[in-house]
Amino acid sequence: MIEFDNVKKMYNDGTLAVSDYSITINEGELVTLIGPSGCGKTTVLKMLNRLIEPTEGAIYINGTEINKYNIHELRWNIGYVLQEIALFPHLTIEENISIVPEMKKWNRETIRKRTHDLLSMVGLEPSTFRKRMPSELSGGQQQRIGVVRALAADPDIILMDEPFSALDPISREQLQKDIRKLQREIKKTIVFVTHDMDEAIALGDRVCLMKKGKIVQYDTPPRLMMHP
Ligand code: ADP
Ligand code: ADP
Repeated sequence: MIEFDNVKKMYNDGTLAVSDYSITINEGELVTLIGPSGCGKTTVLKMLNRLIEPTEGAIYINGTEINKYNIHELRWNIGYVLQEIALFPHLTIEENISIVPEMKKWNRETIRKRTHDLLSMVGLEPSTFRKRMPSELSGGQQQRIGVVRALAADPDIILMDEPFSALDPISREQLQKDIRKLQREIKKTIVFVTHDMDEAIALGDRVCLMKKGKIVQYDTPPRLMMHP
């Protein structure tokens, strides 16, 4: 379970990015953060991953404040899928996927099987794609690898920051389906940032609607639509 307790983030230049931010995300839940550009969505994700620190308030994972965790263990346990495709261009697909499992010292056979299973799960034939370079994949396929890489070391929490925004509508729809299927199969806690209301409602168990750094509404999609 993830808890934000009255979190505030003011950047050094005085920008108040997030304030009065209190939210609970249950284990296995997919929560979408939605709101206009600049409303603080990315700031929320970055605080959860300890890329930046709250100015006030506290964030807990399973009841422990996140700054009590060893930072490497925390990050290994949180997969982060970025908006921009961020595969290492000089590594094969398999090498890209293996980075965190190798840091965790998983054995080669386990990593190989994991890579195989994850590629299959997102519809990329492992024997075809394993040895390819990122530049040999389409944008949608690369985004899929970004998702697979974030999942590779079996993190409990997955953060996704507008992972599909650069894609054509068809790839995007396919990936939305993949994410929902993934979440049903692996029951991970997922925090998914988007500025597309349709996407937020289609994907989220609960939707957190934000405006100017504050929560406007936090509810299930049907209830959100009943009380706009
Ligand atoms: P988004 O696409 O999520 O709206 P932005 O384009 O606002 O993101 O920001 C892109 C990056 O630039 C982010 O990593 C953010 O932290 C950083 N950034 C945004 N605004 C500022 C700012 N005023 N000063 C410094 N960095 C900023
Ligand atoms: P979103 O992801 O919803 O687009 P962000 O969390 O990226 O919003 O940004 C929230 C606010 O904080 C924006 O006004 C942005 O310009 C500002 N901001 C983001 N990063 C920085 C930074 N490093 N320094 C100063 N201001 C920032």
